Amino acid sequence: MTWKSGEPKRRIAVLGAGFQGVCIALEIARRKRPVTLFDREAAPITQAGAKNEGKVHLGFVYANEPDRRTADAMIAGALSFDEPVRRWCGLETLEPLLSTPYVYGVLADTMVSVPEIEKHFAYIAERIAGRPYLGATLGAPYRRLDQREKARLFDDETTLAAFATEERAVMPERMAELLRGAVAAEPLIDLRAGCEVQAVSESGGAFTVSYSRDGVAERERFSDVVNCLWTDRVKIDATLGVKPAHRYFHRYKAGILVSLYPGAPQAPSATFILGSYGDAVNFGDDGLYLSWYPAGMIAVSRDIAPPDWRNLPDEATEARIIRETAAAAARLMPVLRGHEADLVANARVLGGTIVATGASDIDDPESRLHRRIDIGLSSVGRYHSLDPGKYAMVPYYALKTVDRLLGEP
Ligand SMILES: Cc1cc2nc3c(=O)[nH]c(=O)nc-3n(C[C@H](O)[C@H](O)[C@H](O)COP(=O)(O)OP(=O)(O)OC[C@H]3O[C@@H](n4cnc5c(N)ncnc54)[C@H](O)[C@@H]3O)c2cc1C
Repeated sequence: MTWKSGEPKRRIAVLGAGFQGVCIALEIARRKRPVTLFDREAAPITQAGAKNEGKVHLGFVYANEPDRRTADAMIAGALSFDEPVRRWCGLETLEPLLSTPYVYGVLADTMVSVPEIEKHFAYIAERIAGRPYLGATLGAPYRRLDQREKARLFDDETTLAAFATEERAVMPERMAELLRGAVAAEPLIDLRAGCEVQAVSESGGAFTVSYSRDGVAERERFSDVVNCLWTDRVKIDATLGVKPAHRYFHRYKAGILVSLYPGAPQAPSATFILGSYGDAVNFGDDGLYLSWYPAGMIAVSRDIAPPDWRNLPDEATEARIIRETAAAAARLMPVLRGHEADLVANARVLGGTIVATGASDIDDPESRLHRRIDIGLSSVGRYHSLDPGKYAMVPYYALKTVDRLLGEP
């Protein structure tokens, strides 16, 4: 069986209905092509794509990378985030989903000095000033706070310097809900929920996707396949004979979402740099997301695919993550002090797997986790495998992938 470009018989499969797979399926459908979208879960975007922090990185955090390639990549992704997402969801603006802008706090044991960090921020500012980002135009992309402003936001003793930026996050759970609605309303997307992909093989110029549904093995033929399985991507590539180009370091990381309660303090959106620290993201009515790396990073794997971590964490670990994350946030942000018990009482844990190349964790200055350059689209004929690397890169790569698949519109 063979397909030629433009033939009516062409059948496209997208493996993985996470944020990445859903964006690709929506773009294929908007270009008037039918697409089959597989996922083992009962609904799209329930894993990392829904349970992350949602920062649309402008590259500020990647300050430990002299050639700044990751910052360049993040800038390209971030500046392309808004338009396609609004188009897929039929939204005028993403504003209701956005966090307040991030302030960066440089902690005393930072692995990159304050002058080097400022040099990095200036590099980014030069590239993004005046460019459109999340529906606004970037004005003064960063500003070093004076001593009084710094002490108001952050623990003065442990914070060496603070920089206000215009970087923001989108609320991933709200984004996922909107995209699920868009998939449900799109007749050209055939969603195969509850289907666990097990292998892809090729014969006669077409691909067979083998999967199991309710324990029953099934297979289907496609002319084109896009693998967006995130945790299982490299493993499924290998079933087709596509070898991984890198070593992978998988981490299961959890943060907490504190729902808005009467009298809740207004914390800044903040990222503490540079080391194994954490973040705070103020999503207004949608709550306050907090993460603290030493508390939330609970499993690692260097295997081709991580173990099935979907049942992590257990109840006791959840309680510990909530307690320790709230305590760390209150240590670093004076506005949260005295609120620890309320933060704990109103928190739930959100976690998922981070796939990245490398061999050591972020407390190692040489770790490849300080970069995200081994990412993107690789294709063998009509088989495409996509590692978005970050949430922020997903819409950008969705357009690139569909351009390669169908030709530019
Ligand atoms: C705690 C945390 C915080 C993060 N914070 C940020 C951030 O602030 N900014 C940022 O840019 N990035 C962030 N990330 C990274 C970001 O979440 C991921 O890069 C991105 O979401 C991955 O793409 P995805 O959404 O498609 O993955 P997923 O949502 O995991 O999608 C993969 C899909 O494939 C399905 N699947 C997997 N295996 C199979 C199989 N064998 N058969 C069928 N279906 C299968 C899954 O069910 C899932 O739906 C964070 C990640 C975590 C975990």
